[in-house]
Amino acid sequence: MKNIETMLKEGLIEIAKPKKILITDLTARDGQQCKLATRVTTDDLIPLCEKMDKAGLYAFEAWGGATYDVCLRYLKEDPWDRLRRIKAVMPNTKIQMLFRGQSIVGYRPRADKVVYKFVEKALKNGITVFRVFDSLNDNRNIEVACKVIKELGGECHVEISYTKSPVHTYEKWMHYADELLEIGPDWISFKDATGIIMPLDTYNIIKGIKEKVGDKIKVLFHNHDMSGTAIMNHMMAIYAGIDMLDTVLSPLAFGSSHPATESVVAALQGTPYDTGVDLKVLEEAAAITANIRKNYKKYETEYGGVNAKVLIHKIPGGMISNMAAQLKEANALDKMEDVLKETPNVEKDLGYPPLLTPSSQIVGVQAVLNVISGERYKMITKEVRDYVEGKYGNPPGPVSKELIEKIIGPGGKPDYSKRPSDSADVNEWDKAVKELGALAKSDEDILLYVLFPLQAMEFLKARESGQLETPEVTPGTEEMIETRAGVIENTAPVEYDITYHGDKFSVKIEGVTPNQEEGKPRKYYVRVGGKLEEIQLFSKVEAIVGGAGIGTGRPISSKDKATKTKKGLETGDVTAPMPGKVAKILVKEGDKVEKGQTIAMVEAMKMENEIHASSAGAVKAIYVKVGDNITPDDPLLNIA
Ligand code: MN
Repeated sequence: MKNIETMLKEGLIEIAKPKKILITDLTARDGQQCKLATRVTTDDLIPLCEKMDKAGLYAFEAWGGATYDVCLRYLKEDPWDRLRRIKAVMPNTKIQMLFRGQSIVGYRPRADKVVYKFVEKALKNGITVFRVFDSLNDNRNIEVACKVIKELGGECHVEISYTKSPVHTYEKWMHYADELLEIGPDWISFKDATGIIMPLDTYNIIKGIKEKVGDKIKVLFHNHDMSGTAIMNHMMAIYAGIDMLDTVLSPLAFGSSHPATESVVAALQGTPYDTGVDLKVLEEAAAITANIRKNYKKYETEYGGVNAKVLIHKIPGGMISNMAAQLKEANALDKMEDVLKETPNVEKDLGYPPLLTPSSQIVGVQAVLNVISGERYKMITKEVRDYVEGKYGNPPGPVSKELIEKIIGPGGKPDYSKRPSDSADVNEWDKAVKELGALAKSDEDILLYVLFPLQAMEFLKARESGQLETPEVTPGTEEMIETRAGVIENTAPVEYDITYHGDKFSVKIEGVTPNQEEGKPRKYYVRVGGKLEEIQLFSKVEAIVGGAGIGTGRPISSKDKATKTKKGLETGDVTAPMPGKVAKILVKEGDKVEKGQTIAMVEAMKMENEIHASSAGAVKAIYVKVGDNITPDDPLLNIA
């Protein structure tokens, strides 16, 4: 195939024959994930879905890993119920989900039986189109899902995930396309989730794939706009023969998200590539989306817009905000630049995985650990160990020899010939059935638990006791009366600088829920260092600001629950290096442990981190239980 650079030199570019360009809109999943941290509730999505059903889309993406996770973790909604409700108002449109290959909607590969069950239930509850990807482009992780989807009557779009690295050549992309052809999908999706591909590369790769698949399979393009070039790439993809483009309604479009649906539809309207999508309907749907954006403003971050720096560090927006959150909890936000520098090193050590879930988390958490522990790979996450041992799949390029030796031992060699899910627990399903007992009312409940045990157990118990409560949406943009500091007496500061552990932060209170109701916290929306945070505040003592400063007030509640007292660290105390939630405790009091033995697991940034014994001895005391939230200073247990 002649590449476009040669064509340009010769002054003659081949342009694809006219065709109707199909549009899949991603506002309800990818759009809100990029811009609003996936926090939009089902109630708020329904009017949008209802409207978009009339637009003339090929499909509407409304479900996937992040929506499933956030529904359980934060919104206290049943993700399956969301799916059924959306399907009920979209009878004319195919509903699409993003599917993480053998990891389904979770963060590690599962047994084939779980994949089968999930696809079966997803189809039954309303999904038609499955976008299946593997973050390493290891297509053994895509194969089973694709087979099951086709067998059960779904539509399978398999994805090639783009990244830039010394091992990702044009030939490698064509090789992936060949592998996917073997699997026999309905569509091939070429996706750049980071937003770093350039227009001429887009043309060459799409044209290469199109020539390879001929008329057998259609090809679509999914391109985040982080570097600001996506709309140029869209045009080049059309010239190269693309069949479908992914877009998001304008209020949540561009930057970390995708080109706007309205923009793409309008740009092609009346041309030989007309999409046939109804612009009037889109305009009304965009108004609904603009209103959603306003109500969820507090979830917008400074990483949502175009940031051409991504061309240097190649880290997707969502991953940066995760790392920032993690560093902040570890009280090390000042190390952000170091982490951004360390990330490409970890990526190289791991053989250049594209930075998508779960490899983005695997690389990101390890980079954070390498920086905050002061020594590279002093602490190694369980996920990095599993990755190096091949439990996620075949890394695209060679893994660092030093790292392999550190994990497998001198002269060790990982075996990448084994399919990752072959080492998954085949009894996961049956175990879940047993552990849930009467809490599970359906196969969907069991799937919740298999994929997110901690969160699902919390959710199902709350549902059982009738205590499920979706956090209410409060815009947090109420106007406040503003004055200059020190001008009027009896006022409280709403914008100020604080110095904490030697670091200076600019703080601005942007909104407060009006009153403290019995048993409910007041919510403060506070911008710290440019990022909007929600703080839940249970007031205990309140005071009127007077001439002599703040006087003592009356305690609101006399039966203050004693919060966990932080004891001074004793010899033999084991602490966690990062803040998180206790996921597993692998020892009991009295157990003998070796130095370096894994004694507990802490979930942080959705990854499980091993906690190792700092010395040999016997476990004298265990201070925490599974589910406890911990910070880096909290002792987990004591070894004597
Ligand atoms: Mn995406």
